[in-house]
Parts: sequence; structure tokens; C-alpha cells
Amino acid sequence: MAMMKAVQVKAPGADFELVQKEIPEPKSNEVLIKVEACGVCHGDVLTREGRYPGITYPRTPGHEVVGIIEKLGSSVAGWNVGQRVGVGWHGGHCFQCSACRRGDYWACENSLTTGLSADGGYAEHMVARSEVLAVIPKELGSVEAAPIICAGRTTFGALKGCGAKGGDLVAIHGFGGLGHLAVQYATKLGFRTVVLSRGKDKEALARKLGAQDYIDTTTADVVKELKARGGAQAILCTAPSGKGISEVLGGLKGGGQALVITAPSGPIVIPPFVLLGGGRGIRGWVGGSVDEALEFSTFAKVTPMVEVFPLEKAVEAFERMMSAKVHFRAVLRMT
Ligand SMILES: [Zn+2]
Ligand SMILES: [Zn+2]
Repeated sequence: MAMMKAVQVKAPGADFELVQKEIPEPKSNEVLIKVEACGVCHGDVLTREGRYPGITYPRTPGHEVVGIIEKLGSSVAGWNVGQRVGVGWHGGHCFQCSACRRGDYWACENSLTTGLSADGGYAEHMVARSEVLAVIPKELGSVEAAPIICAGRTTFGALKGCGAKGGDLVAIHGFGGLGHLAVQYATKLGFRTVVLSRGKDKEALARKLGAQDYIDTTTADVVKELKARGGAQAILCTAPSGKGISEVLGGLKGGGQALVITAPSGPIVIPPFVLLGGGRGIRGWVGGSVDEALEFSTFAKVTPMVEVFPLEKAVEAFERMMSAKVHFRAVLRMT
């Protein structure tokens, strides 16, 4: 029996453990992938803590996967052994429910989630459904492509869907794994981009990545500062703090919207005038096309900044991500 190394969680709340297990066999509609890199995303905390309906254990997390197809299931068409592919959060859809019949596969009522309803990419090999595979452009290395598959597609998708047009003021709240990509996408999409982040440490880098402006949320009155600039057409909320998000919403201009793409700790408090005084909105965002994000990142030269860890150091990589110490995305590279 061919074996592989994988990191798994044995039960809700248990630590990650490195195990030897059998290399899985792809079912008819799946491919077997030799994993080259897997990003470490805040969403992996759901695997660790069991906060996902119906999750069973043991479970291997990881939904920013890049690897090489090494085996095809019997009914897989359109993919070849040796092709380099990506697998993200969305792990499969049914093609039969009403959302699927509308073409909204991300909203499938029977959707699978990589690393939660099926094993993910913290492993040397994994199986994935063929309908969710993305092609990795040859210009991108596997390590740099991995964060684009979740962090990239979420921020890029949200910015494309936020209603702002070229020249509009867009605020990126938070400058970490999501935020440092969002700044690059926002400026490449032609938005006047302002970063809202704690302290002054990150200002130089934010400006280097294209931000025209930077507001230190620990010292400035952010709402006043944004209003002085005409108000933000969109605020992309990437910092996982309900209180932090609540404090910036008043900086939206009339008709503007805040998009929450992170799971914040604590509730978000919305001052009524934010909604009533000018048709502003606040919404969550989980969508976005992995293929589009990969293509745009290649063409516009948007590059994640990563710290690379071997699979054996998954615990350290996860802890650096959770404590927001990582600059700016942790990626596991399989050897
Ligand atoms: Zn993710
Ligand atoms: Zn469906």
C-alpha cells in the first residue's frame, strides 16, 4: 500500500498531528493530485475547531492547494495527468439543485468544502472533484499561486463586485494576508486606494504595494479622515475584528458599501445613519472565480508575500497565521 505524510485533526479542538496514511484513490469524478504547495488560511480554523456543519474526523485541512494531477478517475474529461492545477475552498457541486441549474455553483445546496467536507491540501497527495479544478498559469510558481486560490480570489472577487469604478476611493481595512493582496488588486483595478491599519509600521509597505494613502486607525478619527477625502465608495473589511469594522463604517459615502470577507470576532455594530443616510450597504462576500484571480494576478503582476514552511511545520505556520505574525501568508511546501 503506497503511503503519504498528511497533517490531520483527530477530533474538534485537537492539535494538528502529522501521520502516515494511505494515498487516497480517486473516485470516478475525481483526480489524484501530488500536492506541491498549500496556503494556510484563517478558514482552516473551522477544521481545527469543528465549527462546520456535518464535519467528520479525522480531517486534513487546507484549501489553497496547488499540485500536479497524477491519476484521473474513470469519468474525468478535459484534464490530463501531469497538468498543474489548483483547488480552493469550493470543493464540488451537484449540478442538479436550483442554484446549480442557474449556474451559481458556489451557492450549490449540496456543495462540498475542501478541507472540511473532504480532506484538503496539508498532505503530500489529495483527491479533488474535477469540476472545481483551476489551471495554474505557467508564469506563477506553486508557492506564490497558492494564496491566490483563496485569499486572492476572495479579495479580487469582492473588489470586482464592490460597485466602485476606476478613480473611486476604496478603503482596505486591515493589512495582512488578505489586505496586502487587496491593496495590489485595488490599485491595479484603478481605484484610489487607502489602507486603514493599526500603527505606522506597515505604511511604507502599503504605499510600496500601490496604496496612495494610509490611515493609522489607532490615532486617527477614521470616519472623519475618510469623509475629508469624499467618503469611500467601498470599504473592504479584511481585519477580523467586529469592533474595528464597526468603527470605520461611517466613512462610506452615500451609495457606498462595505464588504465583509473575514469572520470577525464579536458583533458588527451598524450605526443606523450609515444605512439610512444615503443608501449605504454592508454585505458579506464569499464568492469570486479562482481562474479569474489567477489570470489577473499573472497579467497585472500581483504577487503574494509569503513565508514558506515544510509540511512538518504546519503547527508553526498555523500559529503564525492565527497570531497575525506572518508576513503575510504562510504556505506549506511539500518536499
Ligand atoms: Zn481561505
Ligand atoms: Zn447544486
